Amino acid sequence: MNNQASIHYGGLELKRESEARKDPEWIQQQWDRSECRVLLLHKDRNLMHWQREHDSSPVAVSQLRAEIDNLLEPAHEIVFLGLENESPLFAADVTHSNAEQFDILVGAYEFIDLREAGWLLSAQEAALLAYARGLLYWHRHSGYCSTCGSPTQSRHGGHLRLCSNEQCERMIFPRTDPAVIMLVEHRPASGPAKCLLARNARFGARMMSTLAGFVDPSESLEDTVIREVYEETGIRVDQVSYQASQPWPFPSSIMLGFRARAIDTDIRIDGDEIKEAQWFSANELKEFGEWGDDQDGYCLPRRDSIARFLIESWIVDTTNYGDS
Ligand SMILES: [Zn+2]
Repeated sequence: MNNQASIHYGGLELKRESEARKDPEWIQQQWDRSECRVLLLHKDRNLMHWQREHDSSPVAVSQLRAEIDNLLEPAHEIVFLGLENESPLFAADVTHSNAEQFDILVGAYEFIDLREAGWLLSAQEAALLAYARGLLYWHRHSGYCSTCGSPTQSRHGGHLRLCSNEQCERMIFPRTDPAVIMLVEHRPASGPAKCLLARNARFGARMMSTLAGFVDPSESLEDTVIREVYEETGIRVDQVSYQASQPWPFPSSIMLGFRARAIDTDIRIDGDEIKEAQWFSANELKEFGEWGDDQDGYCLPRRDSIARFLIESWIVDTTNYGDS
């Protein structure tokens, strides 16, 4: 349980250098090192190499800084990500340039949406590209001060934006929006344990998944779990316990995973956001198909999702207890 390393987009092995990056001279020194590499992004798409026609998996692409110097412009937002095996790694958002300008550079590479390719990447590459995407998305949407409307400027290697109005000087840090995701279980006095899965209107016709929702102001995470489950299915829960988390920078969330115990079992859905909700035993879940497969019947969520992690760890726990 709680094997965080197995959850996609987390577990990034990179020295972020939170203190050193506050010094602009140190950042410049890293940028000037010959082994400095840069990840490129265009409109939230990461540069990757993917020979789809050969059925191969995508790989992340970074460029030596010296080789792309002539393509970078002052309008490009450049952020320091960290030291990877002691070598500096930056990311550059080239959205403000014509995409064609980069055709020359990218050649066999292409800018690909991480939501499409992420689950096929290695865990480290997926985490790295997610980090770059999340940070640069924040920059592109934080160009003006929300207090006085003046332009903001990047500081600390791209981990702070500062309002340029000397009367204001508001500091703006990258933000992450918390969302809870929860597996609700019911353990009857006799018969197999069951868990509650639902089909969201956004999911497509077959995928059943755990419930989820954003945290409201003034709510504890446990409050949100209890409210969301009740709003979406009419089920009351208690014994809310934390399981694991997953960064989800699409665009700026973190998914906080819980398990909760159902107090009652009669499902009531609105049919609007939630199209279908049902109780399933571990044995029934084992019959589910794989996401993306072309077959009839229900399927599990994608393998790179924390929903999948919550479901699979519940199946393991339930099977171990011998009550599936
Ligand atoms: Zn301001």
